[in-house]
Amino acid sequence: MRLLRTQSDLDDFGPCEVLVPTMGALHAGHASLVRHGADLAGRVGGRCAVSVFVNPTQFNQRSDFDRYPRTLDADVAVCRAAGADAVFAPDPELVYPPRAPVPIPTLPAVAVRPGLEDAFRPGHFAGVCQVVMRLFQLLRPGAAVFGEKDWQQLRVVSAMTREAGLTIEICPYPTQRDGDGLAMSSRNRFLSDVERAAALAIPRALRAGSERRDAAAAEAAMREVLGTAALRVEYAVCRDAETLGPLSGSGPGRLLIAAWSGSTRLIDNAPWPGV
Ligand code: AMP
Repeated sequence: MRLLRTQSDLDDFGPCEVLVPTMGALHAGHASLVRHGADLAGRVGGRCAVSVFVNPTQFNQRSDFDRYPRTLDADVAVCRAAGADAVFAPDPELVYPPRAPVPIPTLPAVAVRPGLEDAFRPGHFAGVCQVVMRLFQLLRPGAAVFGEKDWQQLRVVSAMTREAGLTIEICPYPTQRDGDGLAMSSRNRFLSDVERAAALAIPRALRAGSERRDAAAAEAAMREVLGTAALRVEYAVCRDAETLGPLSGSGPGRLLIAAWSGSTRLIDNAPWPGV
């Protein structure tokens, strides 16, 4: 496996079949995402690259960016074990050349309308779309893998890619959870035992919501479970799975939650109605 840091490393490596974009601090959920990317690439005889880049433009709070964990050596080991062909860990100047501003693409409706991550993290999706387009330009993948854990991000990247007329296939990957049900996240390491216990109300609320056949009842069930825990809830909603607007009645729905446990912001989601 190769470690790519510079433009000449990239030129030497050439295009990859599958890209798995990450911000590093890789956990077992990421490892499984990378294995999936490596499998997809292997099926067509191509190569899988994992990008590890803590993108400053998608953080709406400087303190969150500063405290984001950086564990490159361990990340490289995770990617090697998961079967990746390369880790792309660029300097910020390669992603954002000082003399050539990287454009922010036109944001799709799902990045600005729903009132979810777009409202609670202003500017976040502008940064995500900007860095994803730039990574596509640098690595020229045929496909890219994104986790369902960040459901709105997955919908935003799919819509942006489609609307930009790119032929890159966006491949979703299911959320990996710890044994207690909490979705794996690089931020879970910040939770104390008490905060983690409180955070378990999030997957419990999703389970309660997924059992209701009426959207309003699903939202009420989630709020009831979340109300029993020491969490600061930003949203707990049942929306159209694709547009993240109000349920249209026809398409599948998605339950989405964002909540703070202590000073750590957590997001999670689940299909609705559940199976
Ligand atoms: P991040 O480094 O947190 O930006 O995540 C990089 C990629 O890993 C994104 O596509 C995430 O959706 C995905 N991801 C993060 N956590 C999980 C998880 N628990 N299960 C599956 N994919 C995940």
